[in-house]
Amino acid sequence: MKEIYIRTWIKKNIDDVTKHLLIIDDLYGMCANCKEPGLNFIKNKICPKCGTEFLYLTIRNKNEIGKILNRIELEKLSYIVIEKEDWEKAVAKKSIDSLFQ
Ligand SMILES: [Zn+2]
Repeated sequence: MKEIYIRTWIKKNIDDVTKHLLIIDDLYGMCANCKEPGLNFIKNKICPKCGTEFLYLTIRNKNEIGKILNRIELEKLSYIVIEKEDWEKAVAKKSIDSLFQ
């Protein structure tokens, strides 16, 4: 039986996602909550600076997605991998909305 990755649509609170999100550049990532750089998604399950627990992961470099998904599976990590554009759009929309409140 061949297994594939399918992107799913889940309703989430944008603030909750941002608070628990690790943004991966190549192998290293940045905490979306406090912007701490140089984090390792395998070792740093909690941000060493702000103490947030990483539940979500997003990948900046599309060429790295396959490699990172393989690593997550290999290490049996429980991250929910989200589309970077979905998150960025939601953050942008939220900041525009807040201008008109
Ligand atoms: Zn942090």
